[in-house]
Amino acid sequence: MHYWRAEILRLLLVLAVAGGVGWLLGELPIALVGGVAAYLSLNYWQLWRLRRWLKGNPSATGIEPPETFGLWGELFDGIYRLGRQEQKSRDYLESIIRKAQESSSALEIAVIMINRQGGLEWWNQAAARLLGFQHARDQGHPVTNLVRDPRFAHYFHDADYSEPLKLPAPGDNSRTLEFEIAQFGEQERLMIVRDITRLHHMELMREDFVGNVSHELATPITVIKGYLETIMDNAEHLDSRWRKPFGQMLQQSSRMENIVRDLLMLTALETKAVKRRQQPFNLAALIREVESDTAQVHQSRGHRFSTSCGEGFELVGDRAELYSALSNLAQNAAKYTPDGGEIRIEADYTETGEAFEIRVIDNGIGIDPQHVPRITERFYRVDVSRSSETGGTGLGLAIVKHILLRHDADLHVRSEPGGGSTFSCRFPAERIELAGQTPAPAETRLPDPPRINVH
Ligand code: ADP
Repeated sequence: MHYWRAEILRLLLVLAVAGGVGWLLGELPIALVGGVAAYLSLNYWQLWRLRRWLKGNPSATGIEPPETFGLWGELFDGIYRLGRQEQKSRDYLESIIRKAQESSSALEIAVIMINRQGGLEWWNQAAARLLGFQHARDQGHPVTNLVRDPRFAHYFHDADYSEPLKLPAPGDNSRTLEFEIAQFGEQERLMIVRDITRLHHMELMREDFVGNVSHELATPITVIKGYLETIMDNAEHLDSRWRKPFGQMLQQSSRMENIVRDLLMLTALETKAVKRRQQPFNLAALIREVESDTAQVHQSRGHRFSTSCGEGFELVGDRAELYSALSNLAQNAAKYTPDGGEIRIEADYTETGEAFEIRVIDNGIGIDPQHVPRITERFYRVDVSRSSETGGTGLGLAIVKHILLRHDADLHVRSEPGGGSTFSCRFPAERIELAGQTPAPAETRLPDPPRINVH
């Protein structure tokens, strides 16, 4: 504030001196105009100096402001300080960007920034090495033109980046790359690419190993189980002390047989790169088959089974694989529901019509939410003793997940401890064809099985 007061005093002083001189000379108006003109000229001169100083880009070059006084001095110093502050924050940001670029260029993984139009914006050296991007040539080019695999284009445009994508490296099939994309800002994307060749080889070796071991074990287990069955068929000739041990041996060999069967199936699903021919088949018939087979296996449990599926729905897929997936879900529903439960298999479009769901619903023991994310892992069982009692292998849901994956479908689980579970297989709507007629839900209900008292 004191600068303003000084400035006004300066103006008054100029006017007083000009007025005094004018009064002495008898030319008061001319002298006052002259005083104001001198005052204005001084200010214009300062403005000219300010402009000349600013033209020299003082915040970048560090040129000090010209020496001056009063309000102008304050103005020069203020602008100089602001410029220095701005320069400092710019230097700081630049140093962060430089460090980020330097550190990412030392990385083994490729980091690529993609703009909202899908064009390459920036990438590190690893990206140039793994994907062959060249700065001058590829800057701004659509990434899908540079990574030309159709699976990549599908993944990139699909915008569901919850799972990474594995692909052979462009131009070098012996290497495997893993692509991961994250969205940020306004539809910009950050893509991370890793060379997972070694990991991929190890995974293949593991699959081979599990497949070979299971294959080798299958025959001895079948032989052992066959003999044990024969022995147990003639149990009356056995010394009574041996009946229980032989019974348990038979039970455990059946379990081993189930595990080997499931492992072989999983290995086949994982390694069969080429899917068998997928064609439309009647879904309602498949669901009825799964229902009646499951009901037969669990005859003694007193469950009530029902289904609901439009007769006209045809699902495009591998019928045998989908039978296996639905059968696994229905068997689980029956296994993990106390006797006399309700088990329902239904199929219809989802509310939005974008997808088609087959749901296996039970009112059984349910699953604690903490276990739900892990139940499709191999050998993961919520309650090991209960699963073993029911002949479970812990592989059933892993098989279901793999089969669904081969049909572009995924598994959704809704469950509440004590409140039953719903396992939904969600297919893209395009996998459903309508056979001739408009599908109308057809309800079937198997007659209630006779109640058996379980003690
Ligand atoms: P398992 O052979 O043990 O049944 P799965 O992979 O089929 O193995 O299932 C994994 C685990 O998920 C089971 O051990 C069980 O604890 C749980 N589970 C699966 N389905 C159901 C269900 N319908 N109700 C309750 N728990 C279930």
